[in-house]
Amino acid sequence: MKLHEYEAKEIFKENNIPIPKNKLVSGKVESIDYPVVIKAQVLVGGRGKAGGILFADNVDDANEKIESLIGNTVKGELVEKVLLEEQIKIVKEYYVGVVVNRNEKNNVVIFSTEGGVDIEEVASKTPEKIIKLSLNPEKEFLPYLARGMLKKAGIPSAEIPKVADVLCKVYKAFKNMDGILAEINPLVFTEDGKIIAADAVLNVDDDAYFRHNYEKFEEFNKQEKSEFAYVELDGDIAVIGNGAGLTLASMDIVKEFGGNPACFLDVGGGSNRETVKKALLKATSRKNVKGAFINILGGITRCDEVSMGIVDVLKENPNLKFAVRMMGTNEEEGRRILSENGISFESSMEGAAKALTELINS
Ligand code: GDP
Ligand code: MN
Repeated sequence: MKLHEYEAKEIFKENNIPIPKNKLVSGKVESIDYPVVIKAQVLVGGRGKAGGILFADNVDDANEKIESLIGNTVKGELVEKVLLEEQIKIVKEYYVGVVVNRNEKNNVVIFSTEGGVDIEEVASKTPEKIIKLSLNPEKEFLPYLARGMLKKAGIPSAEIPKVADVLCKVYKAFKNMDGILAEINPLVFTEDGKIIAADAVLNVDDDAYFRHNYEKFEEFNKQEKSEFAYVELDGDIAVIGNGAGLTLASMDIVKEFGGNPACFLDVGGGSNRETVKKALLKATSRKNVKGAFINILGGITRCDEVSMGIVDVLKENPNLKFAVRMMGTNEEEGRRILSENGISFESSMEGAAKALTELINS
């Protein structure tokens, strides 16, 4: 899950990393307490170049710019809130990052003197300007390691303690939050020698939600809480299976026979009448969906339960067409329930293909 800049900055602040004075707003303001940078809170990088970072020195100008951002998009993302931040006089911009390297099973701390710009470009054009340190996640990132990186990067020695301190704090924040990516780009020095995190990125590991109160973050509440793996596609035949492999194979079959999947829906293992019904209703709820291809391998999942779920949905939507392939536990009972309701099913792939052709051509 990605956190917004203002959320990431709150966390950095809790970890004693200096951030600019700021205020989150979702519309016009009465006054401003300082010349402001108006920053669109969208979950994409490179907002500056895309017109998502504006400057204003008085309240009228600020309001005009706030209104030009809110309700519009920056790089395709709708802006709902902006961060009003004190303008700082920047004399130097550095890059700081921490990222999980899954292949290495390590965390990697990254520093570059080329901050403020597209770091991917620096990495490809002048890789020697990117200093990296891989760290066993069970070890601490100690200050001497940070200082070593900064020496290697060649920053003035007078700056080293301040920057090393921020590096260690970012690493700590990243670890404490179960981060998968943390970034300060740019980490700036101001005219009066202060160090400030002018931008902030923090992506956290969804699977660690039980250790945190992620509920307070915006994206958490927007994420759809679904018990199924569900992906919407633009065809007209809903594809439902139990198990991702079987569902993917089912999509291939639909394509093979000239059909177009309306979705991928994996109901998972052990589903009963209720979950099958819910899954089917979800998969067939969109207007353009004319039918469903259902491919179930009965193991823990019982074919009779699946059949009852299908019949429930048919009763609610008599116009839906079904092509069903089922085999395994309670197959006979499942067959009886479906055929009593005018739906037939096949236990072989060949049979399923035939049923599918009828569905596609209906
Ligand atoms: P991004 O483009 O999405 O990465 O957004 P940033 O927050 O990094 O802002 C883009 C650029 O705007 C930064 O790299 C800075 O150069 C500049 N910027 C941001 N805040 C300030 C500020 O307070 N003062 C000045 N002078 N420049 C700023
Ligand atoms: Mn940035």
